[in-house]
Amino acid sequence: MYNLHHLKGNTYYIDGPTNCGVYVLNDKLDVLLFDCGTKEDGPKIYNTLIKNGMNVTHLVFSHCHADHSGGCHYIYEKTHCKMIASKVERGFFRDAKLDIGFLYGGYPLDEYDSKLMHIDSNDEIYSLDEIPEGVEFFHLPGHHFGMIGIKTKDDVYFVADTLGSIDLVERAHILLIYDVDGYLKSLDFVKSLEGKIVVPSHSEVSTNITPVVEYNKSNIYDIMDILLDYLKDEHNCIECCSYIFNYFELNITYNKYLLILSTIRSYLSYLSNNKKIINYFKDNRLVFKKNDN
Ligand SMILES: [Zn+2]
Repeated sequence: MYNLHHLKGNTYYIDGPTNCGVYVLNDKLDVLLFDCGTKEDGPKIYNTLIKNGMNVTHLVFSHCHADHSGGCHYIYEKTHCKMIASKVERGFFRDAKLDIGFLYGGYPLDEYDSKLMHIDSNDEIYSLDEIPEGVEFFHLPGHHFGMIGIKTKDDVYFVADTLGSIDLVERAHILLIYDVDGYLKSLDFVKSLEGKIVVPSHSEVSTNITPVVEYNKSNIYDIMDILLDYLKDEHNCIECCSYIFNYFELNITYNKYLLILSTIRSYLSYLSNNKKIINYFKDNRLVFKKNDN
């Protein structure tokens, strides 16, 4: 882990719990780093770059989650690199309570870990306009509000959390999704990259990404089918969430509950917005039921 792997031309990646992209910008070995792992990963990633004579001048974040941005304090202190993120994600960097409040849907209980999802940064984070030549960004809706991926001049694509490895999906059963429609479109986009070098954050680098995309997609449709089956009778969102925990025999914790309940809300919105289910108030509860029409 934490080794530098050459992919093509000036493009490399560092493997780890979160794969990070490296693009060499010039002969001085100044590099753009795409994501920097957790707080614990940061020093290891930095050491790998130093060992290879590389100097980080730009650090681009796919999104604000702690496993993509937690290492930034360490790397920024060492390098004073220019940190860059999309407009919405820059907002989330400002206060760790923002994301936790969004996921919880109100002021969170003390039991939730406000550092779970992302870091709190007072350092300047610049807009995507500051991405240097040789690297282009593209939006990847679905997992988080303003997630982006990057494409390097070598035609290598870094696609962040658009998908999880087959192993990860098998273990977790349900991955965090904010926008199901956007997520499915992002998966289709990644599938269209078949044959190119694709680097997901939490799956192996591949030129044959289709099977992993298809696995992720079918997992999403399976969850929808499970919910649709359960919603033959009317239920509210909390009941649907509890059903999913039971169905997959998931171990409940405050943080897992937070992430899955938020994701279930997103699934119910997608199903309702697409007329697969209906929603209405009953006894002052918002309930959902399969649409039989
Ligand atoms: Zn994430």
